[in-house]
Amino acid sequence: MANRRDFLKTSLLGASASLLAWGGRLKAAAPAARPAAAVRVVSTWDFGIAANQAAWAILGKGGHALDAVEAGARVPEADLKNHSVGRAGYPDRDGHVTLDASIMDHNYNCGAVAAIEHIAHPISVARRVMERTPHVLLVGDGALQFALEQGFKKEELLTPESEQAWHAWLKTAKYQPSINSEVRDYDKAGRPGGANNHDTIGMLALDAHGKLAGACTTSGMAWKLHGRVGDSPIIGAGLYVDGEIGGATSTGVGEEVIRNAGSFLVVELMRQGRTPQEACKEAVMRIVKRRAEASKTLQVGFLAMNRDGEVGAYAIQRGFSYAVCDAHKQDALLPSPSVYTTNYS
Ligand code: ASP
Repeated sequence: MANRRDFLKTSLLGASASLLAWGGRLKAAAPAARPAAAVRVVSTWDFGIAANQAAWAILGKGGHALDAVEAGARVPEADLKNHSVGRAGYPDRDGHVTLDASIMDHNYNCGAVAAIEHIAHPISVARRVMERTPHVLLVGDGALQFALEQGFKKEELLTPESEQAWHAWLKTAKYQPSINSEVRDYDKAGRPGGANNHDTIGMLALDAHGKLAGACTTSGMAWKLHGRVGDSPIIGAGLYVDGEIGGATSTGVGEEVIRNAGSFLVVELMRQGRTPQEACKEAVMRIVKRRAEASKTLQVGFLAMNRDGEVGAYAIQRGFSYAVCDAHKQDALLPSPSVYTTNYS
């Protein structure tokens, strides 16, 4: 039987092995370079167009997918008109803007922050967690403390406009936390509009070196309970990347995505031979089957790209869109197929 000394020896060996892994980052076989035509970045929603362009400024010059998705995700994080990501994101029911973000490379290196306050670019803190700590996920005050130690600035992220929306919500909501999606309204041309109290930027990029990376960042559900964490910073739920297979990301009601390990499931389905679109559809159908009644009014969308740059998406409700940027087209916005084709089918 192992005595205490053996135990300590083994633990110390284990600890130095993980520190080595931390210092040296996880390494797998180098991926093969991709033809220029496969170099691509994709992002959730219409605000993905501007994010993709920032990512393409790096990818188009032969830069790395990881740098590209971080740069891209920072665009909606800084956009004051975007109330579901980063600064100006709608607060929780107590008026705190709490942000969730994750990042992952082709070698299973990943980092995330959840329920972090006062930091304008949580995606960059997530990357620091990945690159400068032996951990994957830091939350709340600990995440803030780490960000400050890393030189990030403490800022007020609640804008007057978001504060006004919160006060308006307080008048009618009776302090009930909000969870469900208010499925987007559409104008006559079928374009999404109207009030939506959540959305996330999920990005996937494939670079000229054949490397994949993904990023995901959000302020989560507006008016949520203080401390609520969605799918976006949970590796395997809101984001997953396997450099040998592909990557997936999600948007919509995070609780449903977490319950089904959504993005990991999409990647595993691609591993079994599904196309990105088939994989996204199957993951969506699991939620719909398991939550038959609730799924009529909630939204979940998956976006996936395989290691050859093929892209697919699928959502429960209509209105989910995704932006694609590559050497041919810089600002494409495509509608995702969905289970239901009218609002609240
Ligand atoms: N998935 C995000 C969350 O649950 C919200 C969204 O993408 O709509 O926090």
